[in-house]
Amino acid sequence: MAEQFHHQQQLKNPKYRNWVKSGLGLKYLKDGLQIFSDEKVKQQHDDFVNAVKRKHNLTTVNCGQCILQKLQPDHVRNKNKQCPLGCKDCNCQYPGGKNACPNNVCGAIYDQIILNHDSNPPAPFWKNTCVQKWCTDEWEVAKCYINAPGYASKSNASEIDCTGLLHLFINSKFLQTKVVCKITGHDVFSKTRSARNAIFHSTSMEMDDIEFIQYIDDMIAVLEDGKELLNRPESITAVEMLHEVLTFNLFVLKRKGMRKFFG
Ligand SMILES: [Zn+2]
Ligand SMILES: [Zn+2]
Repeated sequence: MAEQFHHQQQLKNPKYRNWVKSGLGLKYLKDGLQIFSDEKVKQQHDDFVNAVKRKHNLTTVNCGQCILQKLQPDHVRNKNKQCPLGCKDCNCQYPGGKNACPNNVCGAIYDQIILNHDSNPPAPFWKNTCVQKWCTDEWEVAKCYINAPGYASKSNASEIDCTGLLHLFINSKFLQTKVVCKITGHDVFSKTRSARNAIFHSTSMEMDDIEFIQYIDDMIAVLEDGKELLNRPESITAVEMLHEVLTFNLFVLKRKGMRKFFG
C-alpha cells in the first residue's frame, strides 16, 4: 500500500505528467509525418534515378552488385587530394581498390547523395545504407540523411522513429523543397529534434509547463507547415491529438481496489 501511495504521488506530480505527455506528443508527431515521409522519399528516389539516367544517357537504372567500401564515385579527388564535393569521409579520398560500377549507376547515385546533403560540409551517413539496394529501394538512399546508427534494418517510415524522420528533412535538400520551413538550426524541425533528445535523455523525468508547451507547439508547427503538411489528413489528425495533449489532464485509469488512492 505504501508503494501505491508513492506511485500516486509521482503520477500527481505535474512536471512528471508533462514529461510523459511530451513523449506522447512525439508519438503523434511521428504519426503525422509518416505517410508524408514515405511519399517524399519515393519522389526523392525518382529524382535521383532520373538525374542518373540523364547524366549517363541510360534508359534503366539497375545494378545490385556494388558495395560501399569498394565503390568508385563518379567524381575524382582534385590535385590537392581534396574531394571536389567537399565531402570529408568520401570514397574519392581512397582511390586504391575502388571499382567503377559495372552498370554505370552506383557511382552516380553516390555523387547524387552527397550533392543533395545539406550540411556544410556535406556529410551523408553511410552506416545504415545498403548500396546493393540503391536502384530499387528509396529508403536505402534516404537513410544516408539520417546521421545516427541503428537504422540499417529499417525499410519504411513506419519503422523509423521521430528523430529519423526529422533528420530526413533537416539533411536532404530535396525534402526541404517539400516544406516552407527554412532549416537554420533554430527552426521547428531542428528544435523538435533537440527536444526529442532532451525528453529521452531527461534524468529528472520532469518538465516545466513552459518547456512542455513550447515542445508541443513546435511539433504542431512542424505538422502545420504551409506547403503540404498543413492540408494532409494524417497531419490534421495528429495536430488535433497534440492540442488534446496540451490540455489533457493526464490521470491514471482507475482500477478496482485502488479507488481510495485515486479519489
Ligand atoms: Zn569525394
Ligand atoms: Zn553498381
